[in-house]
Parts: sequence; C-alpha cells; structure tokens
Amino acid sequence: MTARTFIRCGHLFDGLSGQAVPAQTLVIYGDSIDWVGPTAQSPAMGEVDTLIDYSDCFVMPGMVDCHAHISYGNALTQEDIDLYASMEFRALRSMVAAQAILKSGFTSIIDPACSGMVAPAVRDAVNVGLFQGPRITASGRALTTQQGLYDWYPQWIGVPEASTGVMTTSLDQAIGLIRQQAKDGVDAIKLTMDGIHARRNGGGLIAAYTQAETHAMVDEIHRLGKLAVVHARGREGALYSARAGVDIIYHASSICDDGIQAALDKDVVLCPSLALLVNNIDFHEPTDPSAPWWPDIQRRELNTASRNLQRAREAGVRFMSGSEAGFAVTPYGEWGAKELEAHVRYLGFTPAEAIVCATVESTRLLRERDRLGGLAKGKLADIVAVKGDPLSDITVLQRREAIHAVLLGGRPVDLSPAPTHARHFSEFSQGMWHRVYDRAYVNANFPREAAAGVPA
Ligand SMILES: [Zn+2]
Repeated sequence: MTARTFIRCGHLFDGLSGQAVPAQTLVIYGDSIDWVGPTAQSPAMGEVDTLIDYSDCFVMPGMVDCHAHISYGNALTQEDIDLYASMEFRALRSMVAAQAILKSGFTSIIDPACSGMVAPAVRDAVNVGLFQGPRITASGRALTTQQGLYDWYPQWIGVPEASTGVMTTSLDQAIGLIRQQAKDGVDAIKLTMDGIHARRNGGGLIAAYTQAETHAMVDEIHRLGKLAVVHARGREGALYSARAGVDIIYHASSICDDGIQAALDKDVVLCPSLALLVNNIDFHEPTDPSAPWWPDIQRRELNTASRNLQRAREAGVRFMSGSEAGFAVTPYGEWGAKELEAHVRYLGFTPAEAIVCATVESTRLLRERDRLGGLAKGKLADIVAVKGDPLSDITVLQRREAIHAVLLGGRPVDLSPAPTHARHFSEFSQGMWHRVYDRAYVNANFPREAAAGVPA
C-alpha cells in the first residue's frame, strides 16, 4: 500500500465554503487530496503514512498569479525586456523567476506574453520533471499592430525578433501567426487591444485592432482550442474584446457599461492587475527617469479602474487575480500577494473573497483546471500553510516568513530564496526606475511599508 500524507490544519480555508474551519485534516494520496474533514473524524493512519503538522497554521489552496511575465527579468526598461539578453539566457532566467513565484505561495501562473517560446519551454521543462516549478499556462509573443504596445521603437527598428510582441499588419498575417503559435504549443494567444492614439475630447484610446479583426482573431484562436487573452486598459479595446468573447481581459480599467454587459453575455473574465499600478505609485522616487509624470498617470488609472471594475463586479462579471510580475517594481516572488490586498483596498473584496478569487476563481482557465479549484477530494494537493490569519489581515500573505510551507501536488517546495534579487538578473540598460524594489530596500526607505510588516 502506498503511503498517504496526513496534514493536521489549525484552520482550513478550502476556498469553497468561504470560511476558515478549525481542527481539520487533509489526507493526500499521490498528488491529490483523498480525504478532507474534521480531525476528530479523520481516517486512521497506517504504519507507512506520514504526518505533517500545520496545527498552528492557516491552510489554504495554492495561489494563482494570472499575470506573470517570466521572461521580463524584473526589467527597468522596455529595452531590458526586448533587447539585451539572449533568448537562451532569458529561458534560464525565466525558470528561476517561475521558481521564485512558486516559493512565495503561488502554485500556478498564467504567462500572457513572453519572449520567443520561453514560457512554454519553462512549462514543459517543469512538466516533464526536469525542474520544480509552478504549473504554467503559457502564451508566446503578443500580437500587436503599429498602433499597439510592443511596437515601442522607431520605424527604422520596428519590432525586433527578440521582442515580447510580434507585428501584424494585416488580418491574414495575424491569423497565420495564431496558427503558428497554436502549432508551437501555446495554451493562450495574447492580443494587444490598446492603441497608442487617443480620441479627442477624452474619448480614450483608439483600439489597436478593429472590431471585425478582433472577432476574426478570437474566433480562430477558439477554433484551435486556445485561450484568447488581451491587454486592454482602454474603453474601446475592452469593449471590442468583450464583444468578441475573449477569455481574459487584462486591466479593463476603463471598461464601460456596454463592455460590462458584453463581458457578462460572453462570460469574459477580468484580471485587473492593480499591483503594478499600486507599486508604480508607492515606489516612485524623484530620481526615477520617469518622474514626475509616471505616478500621476498611474494614480489616475487606479481611480478609474477602481470605479469601473467595482461596477463590473456588482454587475456579476467574474474576476481573476494577477500581479503583473516581471518589472522592476514587481520583482518575482515579492509582490504577488499585493494583488489580493489591492482587490480588498480598491475593488471592495473582503479578504475571504480575495483569497477565493486568487485560489479558486483564478484556476478556471488553467491547463490543469479540471483538477484544481479548492481543497476537495480528487483535487491536486496544491497547498499553502500560512502563519497568521489572512482573513483578518490580507497583507500577511505578502510576508515571506508567514509562508510556512508550500505543497505542489502534495510535494513540499524548497522555500530557500531564489537568486532573483541579484543585480545581474536584469540587464539594466536605461531607466524607468533606478533600482529593483526588493523588500530589503523598501523596508529601509519606505516607513509605511516597513510599518505594515513586510520584512525582507
Ligand atoms: Zn502584462
């Protein structure tokens, strides 16, 4: 008889009841949960079984970061992301990035836009057992236009081969790239829906693709069995995406009532990704090359997003949780759980709702979705044991020492720090930010964060 693992839980938050229940036991068999219930009614342990004692912990499902760019390298600049590192170096670095995210309690991620095929390669290397890493639902390069993100550089440079975006100048070309990426093994295809030009009189950003183009691309992505995910902060991009029935809209800050209705009709999920906005505000310094305009833009967007996304939520639109890890202000494994705090602070979630969103709702589109989504019999044993009570203080989840243990498919994860803070992790070309905001620096320089208790 194969051994089982019995886990005694001080409190168990299974993600399904919305409550933390005291004195519970989980029984793990293989990579999944075999039994869950009150310790008093627990099956008897056999001689070969092992016991893990989390009786002083808050035990919950592993979190999901639905917006992690593992190939970005904690970038200080756009050039950092696109230009300076070789694809081979990026792949190796991305593995460490993924592991750093896992060590912080996130057992699954979605990577929407990477260099080359780096994210699917890291996914596969993890899945065949070469490395321990989180479960990864991966895209490749994001499709864009000359009006979209990723076409940052002058026309005489264009979108380089090493960019995380890929240029499309016609619908035929976009359909061809969708088919190519599907053949190459992506789980999701990312479309850049925000343009760079704004309509007059505060009409917002003009979408990078037309409604008809968006429909045609999304239909082809779905025909090939892939997820359609989009970047759309602007009203028009969000509206076109929702009408076309994409799976995930990232940001959706300026989504309008028509967009909300279309999202409801087509079961479109919103992933606000507020942690990046919040950190851009919290960590901005006068020495930053982007001072002073950058934090002002971020503050305005946070206000807009807070207003519109709360309306969307009240209307019944579904949400996922994603931090947009990969930039200098959102280094891997450090601020993922700040998204849960942002959901509470800016979107009106209770801490329990924010945890359910990040642990259950956020599994609904993952590769392993049929075996994830709460701690129940038959589900994969992706588990976090927390020292503290995130229901009374959601920021507990941001504290490294509060993440007592992480189990991935029932196997303990090595929580020793990943070397992602090293200065050479990013290529450091020219700056948006003048440094990486790791916890040690923030605690020494930002009294409010230090007082909130996020020790390095
Ligand atoms: Zn993104």
